[in-house]
Amino acid sequence: MDSGTTQSDPTETQASTPVTIGVLALQGDYAAHAVALKEVGADAVLVRSVAQLAGLDGLIIPGGESTTFLKFLERDGFLADLAEFVRTKPTFGTCAGCILLADEVVHPAQASLAVLHATVERNSYGRQIDSSIEHAATALGGDPLEMVYIRAPRILKVAEDVEVLAERDGFPVLVRQGDLLAATFHPELSDDRRVHRLFVEMVMQARQARA
Ligand code: GLN
Repeated sequence: MDSGTTQSDPTETQASTPVTIGVLALQGDYAAHAVALKEVGADAVLVRSVAQLAGLDGLIIPGGESTTFLKFLERDGFLADLAEFVRTKPTFGTCAGCILLADEVVHPAQASLAVLHATVERNSYGRQIDSSIEHAATALGGDPLEMVYIRAPRILKVAEDVEVLAERDGFPVLVRQGDLLAATFHPELSDDRRVHRLFVEMVMQARQARA
């Protein structure tokens, strides 16, 4: 039976529907991420409860203080569901978010969601120069990317399945491992939207693969 001629193709309809991306809004720098996501055509949802994770195609864990995030996540019983989410749906961690994704955190050691095959050192750039704006080439193409660092961590090492998309002083600062993306800087604080665009593309592809 040929039913394809009169019905709309569900995959085509889906391709034109914006992806819905949550921004974990318990603490930290979530508002600028929501603005950036809207600028690149995604629907952004501020996530403050575990129940909200259910309807999302992807998630951003923003910068802030990773220790404070952990306190909120433990208090609200968020941690187990979030750990499940980041294993199954595209997630982008920036700065503190990158620390939370890493499978090993040092300086000092702390708990994490442990999905990104990387060792991350907190507050790695010292007190005097703890914040800076740099420009560096990336695998995203085009001009060097502006990178805003705020009490940034350093990715000391990554496993072989982690793709390094940009470096600072020989250390990775933007990495991808399958559906996970992580940056030690704050792309939401620059006007350049290449990193958010990449993440939205990752989320669209993952949604397509699930359909
Ligand atoms: N220093 C913070 C931490 O260790 C991260 C800083 C940031 O997210 N801008 O969690």
